[in-house]
Amino acid sequence: MGYIDLRSDTVTLPTQEMRDAMYKAEVGDDVYGEDPTVKRLEEMAANIMGKEDAMFVTSGTQGNQVSVMTHTHHGDEIILEERCHIITYEVGGIGYLSGVQVKTIRGINGIMDPKDILNAIRMEDIHYPKTSLICLENTHNRAGGTVTPLSNMKEVYQIAKEHDIPIHLDGARIFNAATYLNVDVKEIARYADSVMFCLSKGLCAPVGSIVTGSKEFIKKARKYRKMLGGGLRQAGILAAAGIVALEKMTKRLSEDHENARLLAEGLNSIKGIKVDMSTVQTNIVMSDISATGLTGAQLSSKLLDYGIKVNGAGDYNVRFVTHYYIKKDDINKVLHAINTIVKEQ
Ligand SMILES: *Cc1c(COP(=O)(O)O)cnc(C)c1O
Repeated sequence: MGYIDLRSDTVTLPTQEMRDAMYKAEVGDDVYGEDPTVKRLEEMAANIMGKEDAMFVTSGTQGNQVSVMTHTHHGDEIILEERCHIITYEVGGIGYLSGVQVKTIRGINGIMDPKDILNAIRMEDIHYPKTSLICLENTHNRAGGTVTPLSNMKEVYQIAKEHDIPIHLDGARIFNAATYLNVDVKEIARYADSVMFCLSKGLCAPVGSIVTGSKEFIKKARKYRKMLGGGLRQAGILAAAGIVALEKMTKRLSEDHENARLLAEGLNSIKGIKVDMSTVQTNIVMSDISATGLTGAQLSSKLLDYGIKVNGAGDYNVRFVTHYYIKKDDINKVLHAINTIVKEQ
C-alpha cells in the first residue's frame, strides 16, 4: 500500500495466503448447494459462533437486511440504538425491504439501557404494532468501536426472552469485541438469536460477511438472500479467503487495538486535539480537532500530502481506524505529520 490508510479497516487487501487459497479453491454452484468451500466456511462460522447454521452473504449490509426481513413482518416495530449502522448507513433498507417502523433508543457509547428497551416493548393493544425484533451492535461503529459488556447483553437477552422477541446482533466487528473482552466469541453470540459479522473488515477478506442462527432461521434467510440477488454461483473463490480470515486473522486484533491506543494517546498530547480515551477500546479512534482551527476536511486534505488517508467524521471530527496494514511505525509517522500540520496552523 502506498498510503498509510486509516479511513477504515475495510481498505485491507487480501493477504498472500488468501490469494493462494482463492486460486486453489474447490468450487461448485452454490445456488445448488454444491460449493464445497462455501459449505466449509459456513460450517466453520456456525461452529465458531456456537450457532446451528450459517450463511455467506455479499456484505454486512446484506446480512443485516436479510436478518431483519427474516425476523419480522411488514408493519412490525423494531428496537434499535439511535446511531446504529442499520439506521445510519443502510439506505433505509429496513423500511423499504422489511416494511418495519423503528423505535430508537439513545445509548451511551452505543450501549442501550435495558430499562429503556423494556419500556419500548409494545404491549398488546389494538392501536399498537408488534415489537418483533431488538437489534444490538457490538462493537458500535459510530460510537467509536465501543464494546457492549456481556452483562448488558445478558440482561437485554433475558428481557427479550420474557417477551418472546428475538435479538439480532450486528457484530460486524464482533471479533474486536471478543478481543477487548478477552472472551471466546461464543460468549457474545449466545445473547443473540442471529449474528452478522464481517469477513472483509479487520479480518482482511476481500468480500463477504456471515449470518449465523438456528437451522430454521438460516433456511428462511436463504430465500431472502436469493430475492436480493445474493444467490452466488462459484462463491467458493470468495469463501476461501473467508476461511483464512477466520483461521488466521481473528487472534491478532489486539495489535490493532494497541496501535489505536498509541495513536489516541499521541493525539491527546497534540495541542487542540481531544480524544475521549474511555471510548478507545478497539480499533477506532474518534478525535475532536475543533481547537486546532482546522476542520476535519482541511486536516484530511493536508494529510494526503504526507501520504496519509483519514476520514472526516463531522465538521471538526476525524476518525482513524487501525488494521493489519497499519504498523506501529506508521502511527509515529501519522502523529508526526499531524503535529507538523497543527503547528503550521
Ligand atoms: C461495516 C458495517 C456494516 C456493513 O458492512 P458492509 O459490508 O460495509 O455492508 C454493518 N454494521 C456495522 C456495525 C459495520 O461497521
